[in-house]
Amino acid sequence: MKINPKIIYTPDYDIHFLGIEKLHPFDTRKFSRAYNLLNEQFGDQLKQRTIHPESEISDDDLRIVHTAGYLASLKSASVVARALELPLLATVPYLVLNSRLLSPMRLGVQGTVIAAYEAMQNGLAINLAGGYHHASSAKGEGFCLYADIPIAIEKLRQDGLLQPHQQAIIIDLDAHQGNGYERVYHQDNRNFIFDVYNQMIYPMDAFARERIDYAIPLNSGCNGRLYMDLIRHKLPEALQRVKTPGIAFYIAGTDIYEGDLLGNLKVPEADVIARDQFVLNTLMAANIPTVMVLGGGYSKESYEMIAATVGYVLETWG
Ligand SMILES: [Zn+2]
Repeated sequence: MKINPKIIYTPDYDIHFLGIEKLHPFDTRKFSRAYNLLNEQFGDQLKQRTIHPESEISDDDLRIVHTAGYLASLKSASVVARALELPLLATVPYLVLNSRLLSPMRLGVQGTVIAAYEAMQNGLAINLAGGYHHASSAKGEGFCLYADIPIAIEKLRQDGLLQPHQQAIIIDLDAHQGNGYERVYHQDNRNFIFDVYNQMIYPMDAFARERIDYAIPLNSGCNGRLYMDLIRHKLPEALQRVKTPGIAFYIAGTDIYEGDLLGNLKVPEADVIARDQFVLNTLMAANIPTVMVLGGGYSKESYEMIAATVGYVLETWG
């Protein structure tokens, strides 16, 4: 496989709104912070590899995975406020919410779709957003409104780029269980789901867990050494089970980092970066086209780890 990595990014991924970063332990500008840091180091090399999503995901594409009723419900500020766990949003006019908050997320979904097509052609694509793994067909929760990965997978299937006999592999190393796409695919076994998550924190979704093909539940406080031992041994073993892989989606959540307030794990920064490198090297060595998306990551150091991984990709394959 020819590896010609692409970075999918627009400054419009950032959420600038009401001081939202003060209401939620979430760096709503980590996307541009990561990109700008990379830009200082790589300049033209980064720019030449960057693709800017020009438009948001379309309503037609959202309807591939989401119910019409759910999409209509997002016109209610109280529904959006619940999904994003920000009760104050319930008082904000919908038009403001839509332009400041939902619109950047729909751009992020389009970024994941673009990354999927780029990965099929160029081996590796990183969307500097996406990984909304708590959103299911008829429900948004956990700061996720749109199921970007299932939408991207279904688009590849519709276009015949992912053949009926081929599996999409979801490698979810965000600290939280990926209950959204697990629910989307609860009755659909065509794809392979590998999920490593802290079982002692949100969402604790037992129904969704039934769908995981290879689960590694962790306990709060898991350290870097144990975490990396598990990833190094179990990921290759899990990939052996996938007969005809077509594409992999890697959710590189940086909320496993010890400084993260939500993940409750104790993985040092160096191991978060080593994890990303191991996963990407494993998938590239196996010739599996790969999309990396960011998932969660709520610490002020999050963007530096993301930039370190993208920098590694540019130095190794760029
Ligand atoms: Zn998470």
